Amino acid sequence: MEWARMLQAQASRWTGRGLDLLYPPRCPICRRETAATDQGAGSPSLASSWVSSWVSSWAPSWAPDWTATVCGMCTRELSADSGRCRRCGEAGGGADGCRFCPRRPHGWRQIAVLSSYGGSLREAVLRAKRPTGDDVAAALASLLVRKHGEQLVSWGVGRVVPVPMHWLRRSIRGTSAADELSRRIASLLGLPHSRALRRHRATRMQNELPIADRPLNVQGAFRGRLRLGGERILLVDDVMTTGATLSACCRALLDAGAATVDVAVVAKADRSVTDDA
Ligand SMILES: [Zn+2]
Ligand SMILES: [Zn+2]
Repeated sequence: MEWARMLQAQASRWTGRGLDLLYPPRCPICRRETAATDQGAGSPSLASSWVSSWVSSWAPSWAPDWTATVCGMCTRELSADSGRCRRCGEAGGGADGCRFCPRRPHGWRQIAVLSSYGGSLREAVLRAKRPTGDDVAAALASLLVRKHGEQLVSWGVGRVVPVPMHWLRRSIRGTSAADELSRRIASLLGLPHSRALRRHRATRMQNELPIADRPLNVQGAFRGRLRLGGERILLVDDVMTTGATLSACCRALLDAGAATVDVAVVAKADRSVTDDA
């Protein structure tokens, strides 16, 4: 039996190497082959084993391993952002708020941001919105948890919820990036995931509107699909600009009985950028 197990393990290693030769693994962000030379600081193999062991220290056994093979260059580039306000997400803030916080009463407690919306992150976010972009969304979610996992765990949230897309838009697009991101984040954190909100009326795209008109566009557009009896919610979206969409979702979650809402977004569009999800 021992021999049989050894043979099986060896065969599986050979098969894996053969597949690697035929289809070399590619970074889901930059699409470059993940070369052996890239396995230095921030390399996929080192990063993945580190994250796997780190995540497994709190996640239950059914939570999946880190499977995204983000290359070292993308890992370093997309994790370099720092010094954001933890309450409103603006660059240059801190843990206790910043000068922009009083002007923007959002309704959530704290926010975690992977990076600024631009460059390769913008391209990755746009690819994550396509039906074939689930691997990109998974990679971005993994990077977010890698960067902010300790903070997310410290918030003590009990459920992960995506910002919903209207059913018609979802059926046209065939996917929802926020859904895939939140599902992945929930798995990595070992938390339940629910599509607890619905967008009951189709709204105009936020990036088609002047910033001042965006809160009215999404006001009352979301409703809870289930009662959240005192739960702490982690609300997830791909991009945030003014926070109008996230604020409207927060209100709907609190109306549905949530005790608190915290937010995690992959990208924060800083002042010169006006795209929003
Ligand atoms: Zn890459
Ligand atoms: Zn702030």
